[in-house]
Amino acid sequence: MTAQERHLVGVDVGGTKILALVVADSGEIVARHKAATRQQGTPMAEQIGEAIDGALEQAGPSADDIAGIGVAMPGSVDSETGYLGTVPNVEIDDPKLVDALRGRYPVPVEMGNDVNLGTLAECWLGAGRDARTVVGMFVGTGIGGGVVIDGRLRTGSEDLAGEIGHMVLMVDGPECGCGNLGCFEALASRTAMTRDIRQAMAEGRESRIMEFADPGRIKSRAFARALAVGDELVIEVLTRAAHYLAQGALTIRHLLDPDMIVLGGGVIEACGEFLLPLIEREVRDDCMKGSRDTLRLAVSELGDDAVALGAAALVDAKISDLPIYELHAGAEEPEAASPVLTDEPEPVEYPHIDEVAFGSVTVAGETFEHDIHIRADGRVRRRRKKWARKDYGTSHVIGPRELKRALRKGAELLIIGEGFDSMVRMSDEGREMLAERGVPWEMLPTPEAAEAYNQAEGRRALLLHVTC
Ligand SMILES: [Zn+2]
Repeated sequence: MTAQERHLVGVDVGGTKILALVVADSGEIVARHKAATRQQGTPMAEQIGEAIDGALEQAGPSADDIAGIGVAMPGSVDSETGYLGTVPNVEIDDPKLVDALRGRYPVPVEMGNDVNLGTLAECWLGAGRDARTVVGMFVGTGIGGGVVIDGRLRTGSEDLAGEIGHMVLMVDGPECGCGNLGCFEALASRTAMTRDIRQAMAEGRESRIMEFADPGRIKSRAFARALAVGDELVIEVLTRAAHYLAQGALTIRHLLDPDMIVLGGGVIEACGEFLLPLIEREVRDDCMKGSRDTLRLAVSELGDDAVALGAAALVDAKISDLPIYELHAGAEEPEAASPVLTDEPEPVEYPHIDEVAFGSVTVAGETFEHDIHIRADGRVRRRRKKWARKDYGTSHVIGPRELKRALRKGAELLIIGEGFDSMVRMSDEGREMLAERGVPWEMLPTPEAAEAYNQAEGRRALLLHVTC
């Protein structure tokens, strides 16, 4: 643990549990604490505080440099004040509980809506990490969503944006829990699917689904198991749900044209294998001119940690006022977050740099119009300028925090392209760190650096500045 690292706390408050994570600002989880939500007795601010303290205690020395705390709540949250509006499923005694937390901790505390933050987390570290404009579509009891445009979470003028479950997809259709008719979630959520199954069975249709379900509640897993035994009614109901999910995705595309829609939630986790090909086919067949093949659908990757990670991202984004793609500086795939390389690294096939020009670089046929980082495992990433900007006020100085990330995956040589006018320089702390780690490095004008990288042998990493 070096002194340069800072950490964030992300908390996910749900009806049944409170999860608190201590997260390095690279996205790596360093500690976690999970406790059951108590509906009565202890004030919610106290319960959240206990969870945070529990995670901090576990984090040990990493807890010394907490930069901020983010808290995700179900229901609506005023994005300016952090005060709560309607909160379903959790007993909240104090709509201003964020103030109690701000009094308790000497760092910025921010609060946001859980599904919004789950979407933000997928943009930070998950399925949407290479995308800038992303819509989350989470299908469970209802259908929740989140909207990230150009790397920033959008909550709208009244913090009601992203309520995709209440887009009307069938005018005068079935009644929704919200009171309106024909909402998306009244057609394609688990609640809607359950209603359709029960109705069909009441009319005499046969289904084996109740063999896999509790009498009172059909969980997503029961749908998956009924699919697995080829239950005709369940196949029919899920095929119809897939049709609505596709139409929902198309409506979102026509409104926002995002780079990606990230699908998640219990229904997608359990039945995604059945649903996704159907949704994809219908999206691909979009009749509207020009929109063919441009929308990527992806499945959420962060699972149960997504919302708490998103809460950490929320406070980091507020502190730094940076878009989310600038935040995931140190972030690698979450499963590969270990800072220590223990196994013998696999031999790597490094992509060839075909061409560099002012403002762009072409690697293995793909052109990037931004600085790049080629890792020691041969993967090409955007160079994250966040550290340089935060630590030095310019992206032209390379310091230990950027280097730490640059050397991941076992780099034994570092090549740096200093720009066409050699504007980039190495900080003194950076030099020291490289010497300490014993990693040889060279800094060259960008065209020469590209050439040196192409010719180098062994495990190498490249940072390439493509402008001045
Ligand atoms: Zn509705």
